[in-house]
Amino acid sequence: MPGATASRPPAPRPPDPRPLTGEPLALDLLNTRWTQDGGVRDLLGDREGAAVWLAANGLDGRFAADEATLRHLLDARDAIEAAVDGTRTERLDRVLGHGRIRPTLTAEGPGERAEFADETWGPAWLAARNFLELLATAPDRIRGCAHETCTLHFFDTSRNGARRWCSMATCGNRAKASRHHARSKEA
Ligand SMILES: [Zn+2]
Repeated sequence: MPGATASRPPAPRPPDPRPLTGEPLALDLLNTRWTQDGGVRDLLGDREGAAVWLAANGLDGRFAADEATLRHLLDARDAIEAAVDGTRTERLDRVLGHGRIRPTLTAEGPGERAEFADETWGPAWLAARNFLELLATAPDRIRGCAHETCTLHFFDTSRNGARRWCSMATCGNRAKASRHHARSKEA
């Protein structure tokens, strides 16, 4: 029935529990795992968390949070992590093999559309492709938070490129506090 989807109210969904959101898709996928209270939390521990992630990135309208999509997202997350830490590129390259860019021409002009033989690879592929875009834009701006126990990643868009922390309010202040603590112990 035309229009039925548009008029349906969004399903209630638990809020995104992550400390850092809003980074580019590839890094936002990495940021589904974080440390909290000395333990590791993982938003992609189940399908409900995958649904939260898809919605946070505007992908919930096109893709379902089913088991296969979740499995492929976890694969892409490991692949991006391997590529971000060094030169292990094979796994990411394999993820990229599951999609294609199709050039399009519409009344709005030329464009591109991502196509997938298997739609459950869609979100994983989009995240992998976004990582390539970040590499092409500014590889040195892809950073991990400088705090030793923090695993979050960000794309530094600051003018001088001096961002060190996922968040000044949390990790930045924690680092300042521990430096202060070290100094006062020495004194
Ligand atoms: Zn941090």
